[in-house]
Amino acid sequence: MSQRIAVFPGSFDPVTIGHADIVQRAVPLFDKLIVAMGVNTTKKYMFTFDQRTAWLQQAFAQFASVHVVHYEGLTVDLCKQVGASFIVRGLRNGTDHDHERTIALMNMKLANVETVFLPAAPEHAHVSSTIVRELHANKADIGAFVPKGMRIA
Ligand code: ADP
Repeated sequence: MSQRIAVFPGSFDPVTIGHADIVQRAVPLFDKLIVAMGVNTTKKYMFTFDQRTAWLQQAFAQFASVHVVHYEGLTVDLCKQVGASFIVRGLRNGTDHDHERTIALMNMKLANVETVFLPAAPEHAHVSSTIVRELHANKADIGAFVPKGMRIA
């Protein structure tokens, strides 16, 4: 049987315990899980490319089947390049659902790539990179919302 390969795409600016929970739950479902950091030249990030990459690598180093990559352009093009038939996304609420559903249907139409949705754990449903950035910008401690051992200067 062919390998079941999935891509988990995101901005990961920065990676949070919400992302880490999705990765941990997706690992048993696939032979290979590619955590793919989107790089959009017109988008402003709070953390540098190198910093976001290092945090992702550190967060998922314990999983032999997880690979961290970065990409520009369409997620389905990355899927074709790496031979992935699945995209993994986390759903926190109805807004996420409405937004993700349209993209998932488009990705199916464009490239026959199926999206697998995992519901956010209730204890993580309030966690987002946006809120972590907001806290960090206001000098609040973000240690409880990012993977253990992750240091933010
Ligand atoms: P994007 O800009 O592509 O939404 P993010 O880095 O914000 O990138 O999120 C990547 C994926 O992780 C998305 O599917 C998002 O719904 C999911 N995600 C983010 N935060 C959480 C959370 N707290 N619990 C579960 N999934 C989450």
